[in-house]
Amino acid sequence: MVMTTSASVPAGSGSPTDRFVEANARYGAQFADAELAGRPALHTAVVACMDARLDVTAALGLRNGDCHVIRNAGGAVTDDVIRSLTISQRALGTTAVVLVHHTACGMETLTEDFRRELELEVGQRPVWAVESFQDVDQDVRQSIERVRTSPFLPHTDDVRGFVYDVKTGLLREVAPA
Ligand SMILES: [Zn+2]
Repeated sequence: MVMTTSASVPAGSGSPTDRFVEANARYGAQFADAELAGRPALHTAVVACMDARLDVTAALGLRNGDCHVIRNAGGAVTDDVIRSLTISQRALGTTAVVLVHHTACGMETLTEDFRRELELEVGQRPVWAVESFQDVDQDVRQSIERVRTSPFLPHTDDVRGFVYDVKTGLLREVAPA
């Protein structure tokens, strides 16, 4: 394998992105997943918070090619998440949805006032909801309901929601409403 230009970046001296490019060169040098199918092998889509402490792949024991993983702030089931789930189910064969929220989520520290504050600062109110919450279990239940009631999703029987504990690495399932 030919060394890439990233090899000229001394370790630890560049930006995080430089580090990623360097890591990717090593990853590509031993890449063995060229034959993976685009359709998730486990027919499952995971919707999770973007929190940096939540390693979805490790926490769920995923292998490359197993699942779609859709992430955003809070793991909220927004219109755009429904868009991804709709494509996941209708075009790529998934039939199950797993929702992963977590303890100590940054979304618990925000309120919908965040939108008002933004408007005051920049002169424009965002069209999106902040999707902040106070009760993580209730937020998981709401997310389950949003998936289950979406008219676009053909598969809404197997939808389960969990809270990941950032102190133990363990999942706790939340019963639907
Ligand atoms: Zn979070």
